[in-house]
Amino acid sequence: MSRESTTTTSVPGWDALLPWLRAGTTRRGREASRLGKTRGPREALDPQATGWADHGDRRPLGDGWRSVVRSRQVHGAVTRVHTEVPAGEAVVGEGDGHITRRPGLVLTVTLADCVPVFMADPVQRTVALLHAGWRGTAAGVLEHGLAAMGRAFGSVPGDLFVHLGPAICGQCYEVGPEVFEALGEATPPGPAPIDLRGVIRQRALGAGIDAGRLTVNTECTLCGDGRYYSHRRGDTGRHLGFIGILPESGRPGRSVATS
Ligand SMILES: [Zn+2]
Repeated sequence: MSRESTTTTSVPGWDALLPWLRAGTTRRGREASRLGKTRGPREALDPQATGWADHGDRRPLGDGWRSVVRSRQVHGAVTRVHTEVPAGEAVVGEGDGHITRRPGLVLTVTLADCVPVFMADPVQRTVALLHAGWRGTAAGVLEHGLAAMGRAFGSVPGDLFVHLGPAICGQCYEVGPEVFEALGEATPPGPAPIDLRGVIRQRALGAGIDAGRLTVNTECTLCGDGRYYSHRRGDTGRHLGFIGILPESGRPGRSVATS
């Protein structure tokens, strides 16, 4: 069964490898432009993108999803572990990473050029999603996220599947020398393009992620076909990265035979 649709991009290969979860990225939609313009701690999210719990036939993930959660993103390294979450949509505190092993709970991050880092542990049956721009990457959002998965649920990096989703590419993302320096990369004399997904990939390998379980999407939010929002293009809208354990997948923490 293919999950590809006109409204979302699935993580390639994961439907077969990890049939107990759904993960992907929403695409620019007619109504999704509202998302980046709203304010307030419990602002309504775009129903086309996030109305999985409440909006009937507009659920791109199908029926049964109980909750959708995200946080106010601050380009930091804080990862939140979600256990008990009320039904419906919730904005929970500040943070750029989310972890859960509760079926029926969708973790989301808002995006417009930054990298969504999808992580799934088939042994502990845990999922995580990080929002990684250069500031968050420099702050260690990946490393902190991995550590939090270990502390909360006993996840080990070598067991994880990791995917870096649609983001601005290494040709489009020109940054100053201070960004290279903050990321610990060789510092050019002036502004130069950087491949942020390449940087995160190297960090993931350094943190113990298996190269055979680490995949990188090559789509660019800026120079691609316009299916995603781009902050650098001047878009005010945001698309969403999402990951969740299927509502019908059974008790949290159960092992899965496909690992
Ligand atoms: Zn590009």
